[in-house]
Amino acid sequence: MCVLDVDLVKRQKIFITGQVQGVGFRPAVYQIAASLTLTGFVYNDTKGVTIELQGRQAQISEFLRRLQSEDKPPLAVIKTCQAAEIPLVETEDRFIIKASDSEGTALSQVTADMALCRDCLAEMSQTEDFRYRYPFINCTNCGPRYSIVKNIPYDRPNTTMSDFKMCDKCAAQYTNVTNRRFHAQPVACPRCGPGIWLTDNAGRIIKKESDKVITETARMLSAGKIIAIKGIGGFHLAVDALNNKAVQRLRQRKRRDHKPFAMMCDSIEKIKAYAIVTESAERLLKSPQSPIVLLPKKADSAIASAVAEGVDTFGFMLCYAPLHYLLFAENINVLVMTSGNISDEPLICNNEQALEKLATIADAFLMHNRDIYRQVDDSVMHFIDGQAVPLRRARGYVPGPVFINKTSSRDIFAAGGDLKNTFCFAKQNQLICSEHIGDLEDAEVYHHYIASIEHLARLFEAKPKTVACDLHPAYLSTQYALSIPDVKVMQIQHHWAHIASVLAEHGSDGPVIGLAVDGTGYGTDGAIWGCECLIASLKEFKRFGHLAYYPLPGADKASKEAIRPLLGLLTKTYGSDFKLDKFRPLLERIEPDTEKHDIIFQQLKKNVNTLETSSMGRVFDAVAAMVGLGNYNHFEAQLPMALEAITEDGIQDHYDFELIANGDRPLQLDLSRMLKQLIADVQNKISAGLVSAKFHNTIAHALLKMAQKARETTKLDTVALSGGVFCNRYLTNRLVKLLKKNDFNVLFNRDVPSNDGAVSLGQAAIATCLTNNKS
Ligand SMILES: [Zn+2]
Ligand SMILES: [Zn+2]
Repeated sequence: MCVLDVDLVKRQKIFITGQVQGVGFRPAVYQIAASLTLTGFVYNDTKGVTIELQGRQAQISEFLRRLQSEDKPPLAVIKTCQAAEIPLVETEDRFIIKASDSEGTALSQVTADMALCRDCLAEMSQTEDFRYRYPFINCTNCGPRYSIVKNIPYDRPNTTMSDFKMCDKCAAQYTNVTNRRFHAQPVACPRCGPGIWLTDNAGRIIKKESDKVITETARMLSAGKIIAIKGIGGFHLAVDALNNKAVQRLRQRKRRDHKPFAMMCDSIEKIKAYAIVTESAERLLKSPQSPIVLLPKKADSAIASAVAEGVDTFGFMLCYAPLHYLLFAENINVLVMTSGNISDEPLICNNEQALEKLATIADAFLMHNRDIYRQVDDSVMHFIDGQAVPLRRARGYVPGPVFINKTSSRDIFAAGGDLKNTFCFAKQNQLICSEHIGDLEDAEVYHHYIASIEHLARLFEAKPKTVACDLHPAYLSTQYALSIPDVKVMQIQHHWAHIASVLAEHGSDGPVIGLAVDGTGYGTDGAIWGCECLIASLKEFKRFGHLAYYPLPGADKASKEAIRPLLGLLTKTYGSDFKLDKFRPLLERIEPDTEKHDIIFQQLKKNVNTLETSSMGRVFDAVAAMVGLGNYNHFEAQLPMALEAITEDGIQDHYDFELIANGDRPLQLDLSRMLKQLIADVQNKISAGLVSAKFHNTIAHALLKMAQKARETTKLDTVALSGGVFCNRYLTNRLVKLLKKNDFNVLFNRDVPSNDGAVSLGQAAIATCLTNNKS
């Protein structure tokens, strides 16, 4: 019977969704089908790829197996694969690729920029290959996409490669369905494609011939020079990471005093000399996305101390552009490769702008003439509970969608938040989140935000009539959303959006116990929320508990100067007993100017420019300051990161805390006891590493307790974690472990960062759910 079945000729219609367009999927289908002598066809439509296959059942099964394993194109991601038997067709004698169904737009035809693949790397190293040492070699499995696309459809005329006419050799590969470069839009060679040159910082050409450009750049880097190198998504500023003076010079010129720099090597072995690389970290470093991965520092490594101070990790990536490999082949060991921009402005991607803006930083410029249409930063990843999660989502991942378990009845735009902004479009069953845009208060970033929204709307043909944004009336993103004509605007509470982002990623509608813990988010009561336990679904949320409010003096300054939340927390803890003079020695260690203590204290007493807050981020700032790590966040979360970095391992102790019930009002987490005990520890000169561990453990236990109380009331046992505080690996790993040990099912962000980069995804998910329910 089995034998009979296997021999039977059948026809199947197969429908595949996922990232299956623009990644060489149809050629792969064609080649497998042809090799198995199956007949039929394949074509793209708006939702995915449709295949009809005719042949013996065993061959069809083998086809499906190979398509999902060894013959799957490297960049393809199959989300669903449905097969159904249909009647046989008698007039068919071969397998063909049909023209795409042009009704509407394919959703995922523009894919992310991918790192140089092994095949291309091998080819560029072979002297007989016509792309030997060519800095722009690429194929269907690698190279730029998102950064060079101007418009859809994704064809060469709509990319920045439109100025380069393919030579016969390149065109032959481009048009051959069995070639690795079939329809690879940026295909080029030394004869027909872009080239490189080296200029000084006045734009005068130093070297023009490709090989001389490479050797001269490498020579300058080895001599401690700073070189602006044009890459895939923008310019990097490169400097020898083993040369402390050179790195310090880069810091001075870039006016970036503190934030750690990312580094690049050309092999895992080299990275291993400086940092601890686990197997999963190695896989991530070598992935086509090629992100920066945060790795624990090795003690006494040779990396210049100025590269990354005050943190216990190094950010490393592997070479990902052919140009990087050519440079590193000239005896380069490890380079700082930091974003080519001024402070927090958008990345610079255009040659003229680079010369204008970076001339005071870089000694020379390694330029090329393949224009970058969209700047895309390097992505940054780390590990939580053994899973790779993003801290900054950009190159390699964007515009990859988050697939949801429902179909949006109309297009939706979500404006995101103002810090670490991303925005998001909901279309059909996809949430398409932008890359990291930045902090919108910077005028350049804000302009970039508006231009980016228009660009992505064009690429995905999104015409939203519903717009979601934050509740904060002063957010620029909110004001932008409210200014869009003829749309329905939904304002969504910040921490609810955080929890919804986790639900969307995990294909759940909720409800769950949501723990949203971060710096600031506007609350429904007008207070600044920041440590929230929400019973949340995509439809609604209820505030179950939060950190007890404390006064935060000084609005904008409060997130920079730790002395402000500290004084707020002290007045909350000691109430009317609080005497400034009693705490002078502690405060003077943090801020020597005692007059400042008095001014802030008066501000608190008179309630001037002071807000009520449940911010957890500011508690971390205050504790970091008390243990002697400084009084100032020069970049976001500098103090909390320094506090995490000094935490002593293997400590189980924690301080006391209280959960206070108050009738129908949300449960209050009161940290007064913790603060008193912690101050006593500091005064008794207990080591900062131990105090930090006990503090982190307290927060983990307090959040566990909060979740347990929520479970008692709601009977829910899934906890979703989101918010910037969960970028803290020590805290999050400990909390996840505690929750699991107490039989909770734990969900956290994996596709987008848990910081405010998640907000737009959550807004889009909520708006999709609410819109669908109404229509
Ligand atoms: Zn390739
Ligand atoms: Zn060519």
